[in-house]
Amino acid sequence: MALVVQKYGGTSVANIEKIENVARRVINTKEAGNEVVVVVSAMAGETDRLIDLAHSASEKPNEREYDALISTGEQVTVSLLAITLNKMGYKARSFLGHQVKIVTDEAHNKARILSVDTKTINDELKKGTVVVVAGFQGIDPEGNITTLGRGGSDTSAVALAAALQADICEIYTDVDGIYTTDPDICPKARKLKKICYEEMLEMASAGAKVLHPRSVELAKKYGVPVQVRSSVNDNGGTLVTKEDKEMEKVVVSGVTYDRDQAKVTIVRVPDRPGIAARLFTPLSDQNIIVDMIIQNASIEGYTDLTFTVSKKDIVDVKKMLEIAAQDIGAEKVEFDENISKVSIVGVGMRSHAGVASRMFATLAKEGINILMISTSEIKISCVIETKYTELAVMALHDAFKLEKEG
Ligand code: ADP
Ligand code: ASP
Ligand code: MG
Repeated sequence: MALVVQKYGGTSVANIEKIENVARRVINTKEAGNEVVVVVSAMAGETDRLIDLAHSASEKPNEREYDALISTGEQVTVSLLAITLNKMGYKARSFLGHQVKIVTDEAHNKARILSVDTKTINDELKKGTVVVVAGFQGIDPEGNITTLGRGGSDTSAVALAAALQADICEIYTDVDGIYTTDPDICPKARKLKKICYEEMLEMASAGAKVLHPRSVELAKKYGVPVQVRSSVNDNGGTLVTKEDKEMEKVVVSGVTYDRDQAKVTIVRVPDRPGIAARLFTPLSDQNIIVDMIIQNASIEGYTDLTFTVSKKDIVDVKKMLEIAAQDIGAEKVEFDENISKVSIVGVGMRSHAGVASRMFATLAKEGINILMISTSEIKISCVIETKYTELAVMALHDAFKLEKEG
């Protein structure tokens, strides 16, 4: 008997009919002789609606109450799925994060899972029950409700799979696998049969929202095989797994984009020790993630410092930096929200030269100006103007011949 963790995203549980479809899939898996733990997201659009409500009540809602509110979407879908499974003749029980216990740190809105108590779930599985767990939420050590960040139900599922030592974690969504780029914006995107944890982690961190980055991090750490599939057809999906020799032959495996970034430039920063720490410490204290950072060469003791943050953090960043910049004697702070980041990812980059120059030449040929560049061992990212996002993705997809089997 295998233990299968299945996660269904918002579009897969958007109404009762779709929840019935999910229930039938769960039953098929159970009837095939498996134990099943199901993780669900809120109905499509529900978390957005709750976030809007919070912001119409207050410009800056209290973080604890905000999480208490936006986690409620998942309470609706877990109970509806359990009710539906019961109606179809199967034992099922729903659990919220605090009932399982999924313990996280205190970072409201972007909490990280610290531990998962498996006792309650294992007891239920022994009784033959289908266990239905709310994604996206947990409790901190003080018992406050926390949420894991947008798209965080994937992380709930992988964390449960790791803790329960499940045989597989299946992520059911509105695409039938992981593609060479977002099939929504590039019709030539090709489905991958397999992708390694490292590449998927870079793709997810660079904006491919098909998997929450932290879910891939956990899958890699605990060796959880993750299968991404469609909840409406039986097409073979994509397996996220360990790297193998074959994967290195492909130079670039995927192109991703992220429209959620904003660029911040601190102009004429005095160039002396401790300045970067003075600027970035207040941001890290507030759990604000800084992505790309560029410091220009110093001229006459002054330098410009440019970095990117998530657009949703920009109001907080503005407040903090305007004070910090004054303190250190910088001239001014500039913000640009009209940017996107496009990235190419592939483990084959480690052993192939000329990848970056091909990326730059491709963007140049389309007349796209590069505003910032950053690289890792298996990823190259360029910041460009938002209006060129689709064009850049399609041009890079063509340039690296991704429509053809690697
Ligand atoms: P869910 O609500 O099921 O969690 P998401 O909307 O979070 O689903 O993620 C699925 C979406 O991810 C797809 O509809 C697709 O547009 C987008 N996506 C972005 N990049 C990729 C990619 N490389 N492969 C597949 N889907 C991708
Ligand atoms: N419901 C949450 C969101 O919309 C979590 C998730 O869907 O994974 O972000
Ligand atoms: Mg998602």
